[in-house]
Amino acid sequence: MTAKQKPKLQGLFFILDGLGDLPVARLGGKTPLEAAKTPHLDHLAGCGVYGMVDPVIPGVPPDTHIGIALLLGVSTKKVFRLHRGPLEAAGAGVDFEDGDVAVRCNFATLERSGGRLIIRDRRAGRISTPDTTELAKVLQNIDLGNGVTGSVFPATQHRAVLRLSGPGLSDAISDSDPRHGNPMQVQTVRPLISDGRNSRQTAEAMNRFSRIAYERLSCHPLNTIRKAQGKPEANTIICRGAGAVSELKTVLHNLHLKVAIVTGSCTVVGLGRMLDYPVFTSPGFTALADTDIVGKISTAFRLLQDHDLVFVHLKAPDICAHDFDPEGKRDFIERFDLALCTIRKENLVIAVTADHSTDSNSGEHSRDPVPSLLYTPGGACNSCHHFGEHECRQGTLGTLPADLFLRTFLASMGYPDPSVPSSPSSAT
Ligand SMILES: [Zn+2]
Repeated sequence: MTAKQKPKLQGLFFILDGLGDLPVARLGGKTPLEAAKTPHLDHLAGCGVYGMVDPVIPGVPPDTHIGIALLLGVSTKKVFRLHRGPLEAAGAGVDFEDGDVAVRCNFATLERSGGRLIIRDRRAGRISTPDTTELAKVLQNIDLGNGVTGSVFPATQHRAVLRLSGPGLSDAISDSDPRHGNPMQVQTVRPLISDGRNSRQTAEAMNRFSRIAYERLSCHPLNTIRKAQGKPEANTIICRGAGAVSELKTVLHNLHLKVAIVTGSCTVVGLGRMLDYPVFTSPGFTALADTDIVGKISTAFRLLQDHDLVFVHLKAPDICAHDFDPEGKRDFIERFDLALCTIRKENLVIAVTADHSTDSNSGEHSRDPVPSLLYTPGGACNSCHHFGEHECRQGTLGTLPADLFLRTFLASMGYPDPSVPSSPSSAT
């Protein structure tokens, strides 16, 4: 280190999934964050900078995996190429080679009705993982023509991953899962590029896979048993979200930062594995409101002994809002705030933000920006009366996109990026 170089700081980055919200009548017209008592968040915001963060594209509600990928350093250019198939595959621990295509699947129930095959249950009665593990054994290394093979790997319950391997594969294909409709039928997979030879061949391989999976599963002894027990048969596989598997590099890789993630969410576990960041989870990290917040924070501090930057992801605010439970969201935020009381802040840059807002009134992700703060040790303490949507709209950070928020955070740690201001206090 030269005499001119400033010492680097460590980073602790909290992602409170779905933190932002809209005013709720049951909370006296406040959002859950505004209604919560948050003295520690107020203090961090007051001694740092705060504002609103736009996830992905201003005004567009993003999916969780896109919003979180941006916060984990995936560029805006690459983030939309991030498909759920490879993510699910990484979460399920499936091995892939570069060029393979991963597809999200459901074991589902197909029934003959009026001469047509109808999807009776998209989840085969939420079949258990031990059952899908047994069924997947007959769906290994299936020859799909042109050197392409397909193998199915069970995930949780009805969920699974299809891995296509072989030459000339493309992920520009449609889904066989109809998702909606009455009646629902398995869709023929089509190429999404009109002149794409590879996508046409991949679509043909997928349709061949659908037929073979139905043939093999229909006569599987486990389905005979399930039928006798009055349970829905898991006699077909429906697929969606195909994605090519390729190496994904982020700004954090470029900076050679040692990064770790603490989470209980399968999606974030998958993202972490895809990005080659070590992921730390435990049975107590439930991705629900009963998650062990103190345990997550103490795990993060243990990791900070030999990591530069630790992300802590908490799923509960999003879940509560999806469940129309603003009181539960408020209470979880208060418990999170309380858990912050013991953290040491020396040499530590702290961020609190989210992948998107989730509206407790509608139960849906909303397009609103997310209240966010960035604490840097030794900074001047200004006043933040209450960390929440209202005050953050007038915050010193202004409103900025998620990738710029991350780069501003990294600059505060001592990893400047020429495209962002050198200190967050000037990022107005
Ligand atoms: Zn959500």
